[in-house]
This record gives sequence, structure tokens and C-alpha cells, in this order.
Amino acid sequence: MTPLIGVLALQGAFREHIDAFKRLGVGTREIRALRDIAGIDALAIPGGESTTIGKLLTDTGLMPATREKIASGLPVFGTCAGMILLCEEIEDSSQPRLGSLKAKVRRNAFGSQVDSFEENLLIPELGDPPFPAVFIRAPFITGIGDEARVLATVNKDGENYIAAVRQDNILTTAFHPELTADDRFHKYFLKMIGNSAKRTT
Ligand code: GLN
Repeated sequence: MTPLIGVLALQGAFREHIDAFKRLGVGTREIRALRDIAGIDALAIPGGESTTIGKLLTDTGLMPATREKIASGLPVFGTCAGMILLCEEIEDSSQPRLGSLKAKVRRNAFGSQVDSFEENLLIPELGDPPFPAVFIRAPFITGIGDEARVLATVNKDGENYIAAVRQDNILTTAFHPELTADDRFHKYFLKMIGNSAKRTT
């Protein structure tokens, strides 16, 4: 049976995630209200504006329910704003968040002069060729807990910044795999879902 993937559709680039999963033959459900999350096998949280999505998560009552589901093993894939919302710590911000990932994040971290850029990243977990990573007012991770693992870094002006992190059932990227035709991150996420389903049956 193919999994049913919830795609948080409160704000941001959720349609692109739906399209990516569709290309892979997987069913999705837009999540806008508390009743929508019953029965999903995984959740994608898109890019957009993390303060807006966080506020709407709170207003809809989805915040605690989603947090609990992630804590009990629901596979979740957060891109850009989605990554920010999943982090435990957001530098200089008390904005609402899920906080499931033991990591610290800096918003809009690459500054205004490189608001948006594309970079081919070598990601060992995905193999060859390098992944075309699209960064849009992107965050980067400034610290991770022992449980979390760095999947990708990006080099900017001679510095390496953490751009993708996994912690058990939580997958996050600072860039937007849903905005490219390269579906390897979505495939990788589907594999995570398959493995977690095997564990619970
Ligand atoms: N800068 C945005 C934020 O802080 C994230 C940008 C994005 O998702 N493309 O929420």
C-alpha cells in the first residue's frame, strides 16, 4: 500500500510538494485543520514564511497535535520555513515552532546580497550527481544535538554551512527540493516512511 502524505497547506510552496509526490505516484492530503491530520503516514512542511505558518499552526490547534505525532514517530520533511519550524532553537526569535529537531537555526542567514542562489551540493546519502539546491532567503543550522546528523553543507565565501539535517523520523533542508525536477529528496523521504512503517507493524 502506498502511504498517504499530509502536506501542510496553511501558507507557502505546498503545491510544489504535492506535485513532487504525485510524480512519484504517492497520494497526498492538504492539511489545513486539525481534523485533516488523522490517518496520515507522513507530513511535509513547505517553505514560505515561518512566522506566518507558525501562527496559523497555533490558531488552528495543529501545533500541539502535530508536535505529538512527530514525537511518536510520524515521518516529517521540512524545507526552508519548514526546517525553521522544526528546530528547537531559532536565533533571536520567540516565534511559535514545533521544536522537534534538536538544532539551532538562523533565519535569512545568507544575508540580502545572496537572497536567492542555486548551488550543486554533493550529498553522500543521495549519491551522484550533485543535488541542485535552490536557496531562497534560506536559513542555516548553527548547531545540532547528538541525535541529529548533517546530510549536506553548502560552501559560501569559503565557509561551510549546514544545509540539511536528519534526526530519526525528521528530515530537513534549508533549500527547496520541491522547486526542482530532481525528486531524490522526496524519494529518500518515502524510503524513511517505508522503514518506519515496517517498524510499527
Ligand atoms: N525566510 C523565511 C522564514 O524565515 C523562509 C524562506 C523560505 O521558506 N523560502 O520563514
